Amino acid sequence: MGNEICNLCKVKNADKENSHIIPKFMSKRLFEGAKPRFTVLITKEGKRKKLQDTPKESNILCKDCEKRIEIVETYFSRVLIDLNSLQNAKRKYTIDFFENQEIIVCNDLHPTLYKIFIFSLVWRCSISSLLEFETFQLEDYVEEELRVFLNKNLLKRHDELLASLDNITEIPQYHTCLIKPKNNTRGLFTSYNFGQNAYAIYTVDYAIFFYTNDEILVQKHLSFSNINNGLVRVVIGDDKEWSELNNQVLQNMLNYKSLS
Ligand SMILES: [Zn+2]
Repeated sequence: MGNEICNLCKVKNADKENSHIIPKFMSKRLFEGAKPRFTVLITKEGKRKKLQDTPKESNILCKDCEKRIEIVETYFSRVLIDLNSLQNAKRKYTIDFFENQEIIVCNDLHPTLYKIFIFSLVWRCSISSLLEFETFQLEDYVEEELRVFLNKNLLKRHDELLASLDNITEIPQYHTCLIKPKNNTRGLFTSYNFGQNAYAIYTVDYAIFFYTNDEILVQKHLSFSNINNGLVRVVIGDDKEWSELNNQVLQNMLNYKSLS
């Protein structure tokens, strides 16, 4: 161990230990207040595994790259805190209805920053060799495209990053959709390909969808896709929708074996 090259910069040694693949703040509720204090992960083979903490992996990044990712995460954790307590939010949000769907429009979130964050999540899930992410694998050229984009645009300082956002032009064009449950319900923690060119990450508090082929898009994900650099929209899933989504995930996980 210790001789691996950082997956992001491809220059320095991957000397960082315990990198989070999914930031802890995105799945806090998973391990909070729940009895027993763990969740169940279903592997590709249909095996169940106890998960007691958000998955960590060593020697995938160098310390500098970890720091660069951390800067985006810190910013985004505050964005998500605001999304969870809209009344007290520091940033401006608008609740809107579109096609009978309740959504949050993030007036104060730079769309490019949203993309950097979502792409960093998707990319990390893909490069991870942990069991938790074995069913999540981007096509090689997409993984490399995201790496190059992230390596170029993740900066070492918070203020530099924010100042640079308006000048970032070559943004990978992929549909992404972010869904948040309206109420606190228990969900799943998993990430997987739910079809060829279609990817999902569930963190209990959020569901993220990412597509590398437009033709197979679920209609709702297309309607609320954040592919354009307009204001970021977050779909609010009511209890029924959210539980349907979770059941669908479980079903897809169980079907995965027959897909692959
Ligand atoms: Zn690095």
